[in-house]
Amino acid sequence: MADRRGRAPYRGSVTTLLVAAALRVEARALRRGLPRDAVLRTGMGPARSKRAVPAIVSRQPGAFAVAGFGGALTDDVAPGDVVVATEVRTADAVRACPSAPLLAAALRAAGLTVHTGPIQSADHVVHGAERAELAKAGAIAVDMESAFLADAAGDGPLAVVRVIVDTPSRPLVSPATVTGGFTAYQVLGRVGPVLAAWASAVRDRKILLAGPRSFCAGVERAIDIVDRLLVERDGPVYVRKQIVHNKKVVEELEERGAVFVEELDEVPEGATVVFSAHGVAPSVREEASTKQLDVVDATCPLVGKVHAEAKRFAKQGNTILFIGHAGHEETEGTLGEEPEHTVLVEEPSDVDNIQVPDPRRVSYLMQTTLAADEAEGVLGALRTKFPDLTGPNSDDICYATTNRQLAVRGVAGDSDLVLVVGSSNSSNSLRLVEVAEREGTAAYLVDGVEQVDLGWLRDVDTIGLSAGASAPHKLVDELVAALGGLGRLEVTERAVTRETVRFTLPKEVR
Ligand code: SF4
Repeated sequence: MADRRGRAPYRGSVTTLLVAAALRVEARALRRGLPRDAVLRTGMGPARSKRAVPAIVSRQPGAFAVAGFGGALTDDVAPGDVVVATEVRTADAVRACPSAPLLAAALRAAGLTVHTGPIQSADHVVHGAERAELAKAGAIAVDMESAFLADAAGDGPLAVVRVIVDTPSRPLVSPATVTGGFTAYQVLGRVGPVLAAWASAVRDRKILLAGPRSFCAGVERAIDIVDRLLVERDGPVYVRKQIVHNKKVVEELEERGAVFVEELDEVPEGATVVFSAHGVAPSVREEASTKQLDVVDATCPLVGKVHAEAKRFAKQGNTILFIGHAGHEETEGTLGEEPEHTVLVEEPSDVDNIQVPDPRRVSYLMQTTLAADEAEGVLGALRTKFPDLTGPNSDDICYATTNRQLAVRGVAGDSDLVLVVGSSNSSNSLRLVEVAEREGTAAYLVDGVEQVDLGWLRDVDTIGLSAGASAPHKLVDELVAALGGLGRLEVTERAVTRETVRFTLPKEVR
């Protein structure tokens, strides 16, 4: 809520934030959301910017930002949009701004339209064909100060934000005319409090990387299968359900041509279809056979093992008590194996109500991605009620789930915050968050760096990082890189084991 003078409320410390603004109007806009002395007017153009550097350095800001108006280099970026620099460039130098994805996310959360990319700083007003040349070189916006002021940050954190006033199709007559850019002025006013939040997240930190993390052998195999089919097959490659539970993996495969469907009725007769890593019920296989689909099965071999155990127990005449989560694809697939003989058990409190034909003939199986201690609670209750309960030859909770849970537990106790990279429908990723929370540490699940809230990082010295078995390694790398833009990082890997498991590919793609 704004105060009586229409200023945005300021939240967070600005004791170390200094924002350089070239023009009086820019400084005025920024001061709507920041204390007056957190904004320094530095003057327009390269010469004044360079002259301002010693004054900025003498104030020893812990977090230094440049903010103001800018010009877009393509018409994809509109007046009033915000550009956060991933780097600032001059004709002969480049300075990176690694925390850009975190700052951009915070600006988006504040309701602004935000683009990230290189900003070019020129020593003159850029017009016409020169805009196109700079755009061709990859820059998305242009100004006359940012890169010349960047030296003031030294090797410390730097943020550069420009609110767009002019575009190739709506060029600026003169930088001095920006007073007319009412929308840009309003938007720049909203940038100030977000820069303050960025500054409050700035500090040197320790990162504890939980090892193992990210892709397991089953996920690598499933993605490899789709990948190879996309290269080898001429026609479309359909995938029933998400191949693995990760939004970004699915988006990337979709961009390459994979067609994700919920059910086989969306797949034309005779087409190639991949079954996801979570497995399918026999009824799905029958439907595929009826439609003469060319099936390539990416079911993880460890999930396949649970299906085989279900058939074995049912053949012995046992009732199968399946410990898992209702609605999860793996649960649905396994329940579908022997539906007449299987009962789903989600919580210890479910156990009292279970009725079986013969309490001496009961076996249990588990969803592979449960938290070990969570499954232990249900299993204990089952053993108490059914003393003759039998189980699989080995525990069904898979090696990758077990290892990732042990690893996250190994870092959570020494961390102020745990971030787990994974999608919200990824069971094993959610379990990692729960494991960290059970250690008493605040933990969040994020699809990637763009979901990290700067507020979480305030007062946090040590961050534990992990990723679910379906989340690519590169997403953790991107997160570490962005955190490195908020201060120096001491990154330590804590590995509880090294994984060497590999599964062979199905014959169709070997
Ligand atoms: S988490 Fe385990 S069961 Fe699931 S795909 Fe990976 S290896 Fe297979």
